[in-house]
Amino acid sequence: MLTGPIPERVDHRKLANQAGLIEGSLPIQCFHRFGEMLVEGGGEVRLRLEFSKGDFGSTSVNGSVATEVCLICQNCMQQFIRSVTCDLALQIVSDESKLERLAEVGDVIVMPDKVISLAELVEDDLILAMPMISRHEEGQCPGTDYEQEEIVLPDVKEEQNTYRPFADLAKTIDNQNTE
Ligand SMILES: [Zn+2]
Repeated sequence: MLTGPIPERVDHRKLANQAGLIEGSLPIQCFHRFGEMLVEGGGEVRLRLEFSKGDFGSTSVNGSVATEVCLICQNCMQQFIRSVTCDLALQIVSDESKLERLAEVGDVIVMPDKVISLAELVEDDLILAMPMISRHEEGQCPGTDYEQEEIVLPDVKEEQNTYRPFADLAKTIDNQNTE
């Protein structure tokens, strides 16, 4: 078992054969696209990844990823720290021809090389785990107009009552008949 700093790149096939566990952290700088979404690029991402042999020569990776990120609240424009975590259940295959057979299993990643970047492996899931709108949790924002920023969904019922596509048509027919 590996703890503390972990290698940036690993041989996933070797790990799968050994039923290997990778546990430790990588600097956020390793995550290029994810890092661009953050105010500060410092900090680290903690990973816990279990490798095992999957179907059709694939590698199964199960585990979790967690980090704390610094974001700007869209309500008060101040920085705040937020934790981002996600669970992973991935299959790594060497080429696309194997994709179809594994489609039912879950997320499948095509990686032709057996030596893979751990950051690349988990980066998409990490990005998806980011909040859609970056702002403080409710009640923790120093901004006063928090409530007003709530997204108001259109009232479907009201729209149905006022939308009468044939009302104008009926009027037109009436006019034609009286002319
Ligand atoms: Zn705020």
